[in-house]
Amino acid sequence: MNALTDATLAPAPAKAEPTIAFVSLGCPKALTDSELILTQLRAEGYGTSKSYSGADLVVVNTCGFIDDAVKESLDAIGEALAENGKVIVTGCLGAKPGKAGGDNLIQEIHPKVLAVTGPHATQEVMDAVHRHVPKPHDPFVDLVPPQGIKLTPRHYAYLKISEGCNHRCTFCIIPSMRGDLVSRPIGDVLGEAQRLFEAGVKELLVVSQDTSAYGVDVQYRTGFWDGKPVKTRMLDLCERLGDLAATYGAWVRLHYVYPYPHVDNVIDLMASGRILPYLDIPFQHAHPAVLKRMKRPGTGERTLERLQMWREKCPELVVRSTFIAGFPGETEAEFDTLLDFVREAQIDRAGCFAYSPVEGATANEIEGQLPQEVREERRARFMAVAEEVSAAKLQRRVGATMQILVDKAPMLGRKGGVGRSYADAPEIDGIVRLLPPEKLSKQLKVGEFTRARIVATEGHDLVALPI
Ligand code: SF4
Repeated sequence: MNALTDATLAPAPAKAEPTIAFVSLGCPKALTDSELILTQLRAEGYGTSKSYSGADLVVVNTCGFIDDAVKESLDAIGEALAENGKVIVTGCLGAKPGKAGGDNLIQEIHPKVLAVTGPHATQEVMDAVHRHVPKPHDPFVDLVPPQGIKLTPRHYAYLKISEGCNHRCTFCIIPSMRGDLVSRPIGDVLGEAQRLFEAGVKELLVVSQDTSAYGVDVQYRTGFWDGKPVKTRMLDLCERLGDLAATYGAWVRLHYVYPYPHVDNVIDLMASGRILPYLDIPFQHAHPAVLKRMKRPGTGERTLERLQMWREKCPELVVRSTFIAGFPGETEAEFDTLLDFVREAQIDRAGCFAYSPVEGATANEIEGQLPQEVREERRARFMAVAEEVSAAKLQRRVGATMQILVDKAPMLGRKGGVGRSYADAPEIDGIVRLLPPEKLSKQLKVGEFTRARIVATEGHDLVALPI
């Protein structure tokens, strides 16, 4: 959860200004929605409050992906109602219909909430805020930094390139909540990237539901950036982001990419160092029959060959992925195929969920739902294999010198610090524990790069000596 206590927010305003408390739950896509709303609030002169009781109103940005997330969101709304009483709800859960035939689940469970919107609804949220806490007369526009307000640390930021999804994976209800793919205009996306780099961002994390599908909905329409035509297409976007990042000495990292043939060209950009040789591909499974039951996109039989070909072009490539164990109907033989895939594909970082039914998902009707113990047991077996692969790959880094982005460095790193290499995305992968530098003159600074020699591994992490 990202509560409003984040240090990136501007100082508390004078008492006369209305203040809003904000709770942000869910994935990076939801986080960018939160940033847009907070930016707008600040632009209009609202202050932000660190506590529910000290605020004039609370906005809760919810997640509705799995049942645990739904519960967390409903609990947060209940808490805000109890402590403050004036609550507006936005986000994925806001789009979920009620069980008793009502328009939405939230108003059925918490009838006292003042307004409910779905995701990606900054204007609707602002309209609801205006109705219940009128706009201040003299907006403090100057308090808004040009890049907006960010909930992530100053040196990395998520860049959302599209909303929604054209796929219909049977375990997922995101398309029913967020709708079909809508790509943001390429000029807007590149403009936002430039503002973020100018504000000091050193790592840009590109997110969407399907980054490789960028522009499909607008037939790769030609947009404009910097006075020149540019197509709304993944490759063109990556080229321009790579050029921008080079100007500012920053990294670009891609998330949620599917192994479509056109991604081959993006690997060339990685091999030439324009964007990080890192791909986050949510494979979910490897057996063709399970993938078919899941209705997964980009699941040609040649996935393994494609990965091998990518690694030949770009040997540094790191692949992170997520998988589901115990999907309905999964046989032992199908599960074994998944284990073989993780070994053969040499997945660098893997996460695995035991299959968990999501209300409203069509996978709930698939025959052969497996007992919870079987799903959990397969997840544990999967993780044992995945960790073996991952540990062996990490071990091979010992002795190498890597570029590390510093995330924490108390006392300018005199006692060491924490950073990440190109192989580690923030919050989901490992870290690099930085030892105190041997040279007394060497300092570590948050948001800056340092070179470091890898000296050991520690579970999912590396230990390195800054040089
Ligand atoms: S690709 Fe599948 S899992 Fe991902 S958002 Fe679209 S429907 Fe859901």
